[in-house]
Amino acid sequence: MDLKPVWNKIRSAWQKIIPDWKYEKSDDQPTQFSWKRILYKSVPYVLVVVFASITFLTALGVKSTNVEHITIKNTMAELEAGKQNLAANRKELEETLNETKSLLAQLQLMNADMETLLEQAKEQDADMAARIEAFMSAYADAEEQNQQRWIVPLQYTVCTSPFGDREHPVPGEIATYHHGVDLAAPQGTPVVASRSGTVTVATYEEHSGNYVIVDHLDGYTSRYLHLQKFIVSEGQFVMAGQIIGYCGSTGVSTGPHLHFGIYHNGKAVDPADYISM
Ligand SMILES: [Zn+2]
Repeated sequence: MDLKPVWNKIRSAWQKIIPDWKYEKSDDQPTQFSWKRILYKSVPYVLVVVFASITFLTALGVKSTNVEHITIKNTMAELEAGKQNLAANRKELEETLNETKSLLAQLQLMNADMETLLEQAKEQDADMAARIEAFMSAYADAEEQNQQRWIVPLQYTVCTSPFGDREHPVPGEIATYHHGVDLAAPQGTPVVASRSGTVTVATYEEHSGNYVIVDHLDGYTSRYLHLQKFIVSEGQFVMAGQIIGYCGSTGVSTGPHLHFGIYHNGKAVDPADYISM
């Protein structure tokens, strides 16, 4: 940028303001020293210097203000960012707190549920114990009844000879006390144990033929005589209703029948009092 024309303009303007003053002197004339002339001559320079200084200082001030402004702006932006960060952190913390509260509430509910379930389980347990006790009691009663109940030992057609005094059915034999009942049935009819117990005798003897004695272990025994054959052995435990042999006519007998006897403490008792005939 060429400042020379501007400078010339300023100088000529200044010369117009002071027209009657000899501003310039030619070089061939010695310059008369005058403070006034020097002062006037220097005015445009001073003005320029002052103007330049003002411009420079202003520019400097603006720049520094700008820098400060930018710094403040940056700091504010940082502060704002920090604030937002804090807000975000706080929000996160609040969410975590809410979640924790929710979990705690759920846990409390679950705890209450568990307590209810435990209470129910206890009640059920007590109920079950009562049921088991009732069942055991009923079972014991049934067992006792079963122990006392006697089963008819075979499907017979007729009782040919009751318990007690009688004339012997075989001619020539001496009349004796009949220690059981004679139950007629076809040859081979299954004979079952009248009650549960242990087989103490399973053998052949000439009067009784093939016969079995079962000990019921409570003072009672039962006898099954004249069997076609027996299928149990001594020492074997048999259940009530279990087949022990088959109806026959072995030993002293006039035809296929079962002589069935019940003994209580070694004494014969009337089977008709124990089985339904
Ligand atoms: Zn008999």
